[in-house]
Amino acid sequence: MNADVGLGSWPWRRARITPERIALTRDDRTLTYADLAARTERLAAALIGAGVRAGDRVAYLGPNDIETFESLFATGLLGGVFVPLNTRLSAREIAYMLDDCAARVLVVAPTHHELVAALPSVPGDLLVVALEAPTCPIACTGYEQFLGAGDDSAEVFPPVGLDDPCLILYTSGTTGKPKGAILTHGNVTFNTINQLAHVDVLSTDKSLCLAPMFHVSGLGQITLPTLFKGGSVQPVPRFDAGEVLAAIDRERITGFSAVPTILQMLCEHPDFAGTDLSSLRYIVYGGSPVLERVATAWLDRGVQLLQGYGMTEAAAGVYMAIPDGAAEHPVSVGFPHFYTDVALETGDHTTPITPGTTGELLVRGANLFAGYWNRDEDTAASFTADGWFRTGDVVATGEDGWARVVDRVKDIIISGGENIYPAEVEAVLTRHPGVASAAVVAIPDNQWGEVGLAYVVTTGDTNLDAETITSYLAEHLARYKIPKHFRFVTDLPRNATGKIQRAQLRELAATTPDTNPVTA
Ligand code: ATP
Ligand code: MG
Repeated sequence: MNADVGLGSWPWRRARITPERIALTRDDRTLTYADLAARTERLAAALIGAGVRAGDRVAYLGPNDIETFESLFATGLLGGVFVPLNTRLSAREIAYMLDDCAARVLVVAPTHHELVAALPSVPGDLLVVALEAPTCPIACTGYEQFLGAGDDSAEVFPPVGLDDPCLILYTSGTTGKPKGAILTHGNVTFNTINQLAHVDVLSTDKSLCLAPMFHVSGLGQITLPTLFKGGSVQPVPRFDAGEVLAAIDRERITGFSAVPTILQMLCEHPDFAGTDLSSLRYIVYGGSPVLERVATAWLDRGVQLLQGYGMTEAAAGVYMAIPDGAAEHPVSVGFPHFYTDVALETGDHTTPITPGTTGELLVRGANLFAGYWNRDEDTAASFTADGWFRTGDVVATGEDGWARVVDRVKDIIISGGENIYPAEVEAVLTRHPGVASAAVVAIPDNQWGEVGLAYVVTTGDTNLDAETITSYLAEHLARYKIPKHFRFVTDLPRNATGKIQRAQLRELAATTPDTNPVTA
């Protein structure tokens, strides 16, 4: 018989070592590891009682909360597959996902009652479990009542192996429709070991779970490693910069993981200067490029800031900075993770990564996913013949070995035969004091094939025009890299994790006439 090495065994394994330590807290609710283990087993037993079997999908719709963790571990304990759904999607999109993954159970928080009531259709045998049943508008069972009925005394949970699926996490949908990545118990476990090899997480740590758990960085970067170590995690249901700063100060928070836009909102908040950050031992972040001034704002306060680079398909991490030297490399993603192998795509063969090389990154390793759910063609297309996953990202490794994410291959602008990386242009643009944020996309051009169009959000400086920005860029960039068109906008379209929706910007560029061409 297989040993039970699934994620669902973590609560009882931790409870065997540190039963009295706090695993989860939110407001005035606190669960020790012993409590978490007991509730996980009851919930798993209840799910089995309701007919859920190994391999079945259990979906969750609601903000980060204690119940999100209980549902994750309980589903894992019985060998089921946990599917946390994006809380910002429409009823139609959620209906598509429930149907796509053929969910047996949907756990829903009161924040999403209206959405569930508006679902155009639900799978026929879907069991809805509501955190607040009395106010839930559709037929459902109450969560506490359901969990309370779980008889764990008689239950023997099936052994779960490293290759068994554990999670379906949908990608962010930046380059197309979100794809459900199947992550196994082994993927999650090895990602945890990888993170711990780079970040000094301790059993005494108190971390905030800020990023939504339907996104891989919310779960993988710090949260699961903290629970593995026996530290405590505070799920944060709604992000409010002022409240988070107050919590760091009041509760002596030791670390958290975040996307760059969250770091920006925190360091630009009026309370930032007055917040005591001395308890913070690290912040881990990633998901999209960071503005240099945002990284510097945190580094100047003496916080250890570690950038990671990863993707849903890698169960979170591929590269991460390390404490030694992180301050000297503010926008670098450091080194490949411990159990993750990397190479460069060079046509019909792969090339090892050495200092000074740049190219499309290929990844292999124990944290790499088992394929996309219901999308065999996409799965096949994303791997090379010898099993490397094509990241679609260009990574540059410096002479000292520290790596930098250059850009996505799909976003590269090819102008007159030259490659332009939008991220490089955006980094220079956002160093201008009058520019709050910027995004550069390719548009067709008769003469050059493609040229750059820059969407610019100003910091309120209304005198900033295309000519001024062009001459500023000319001081820092080769002429061919300077966008030929500019549009001044009040905001950039972003998804739930703060990524700029470039497809929307390209569409916008194609459908609205240009009012600001640069003639120079
Ligand atoms: P989709 O695959 O659906 O198009 P997505 O790639 O944005 O969406 P995720 O898996 O959430 O979905 O994000 C992974 C991607 O995010 C990476 O491939 C990379 O392009 C980008 N990324 C991650 N970390 C960083 C980072 N530190 N700096 C720059 N880009 C990053
Ligand atoms: Mg992707």
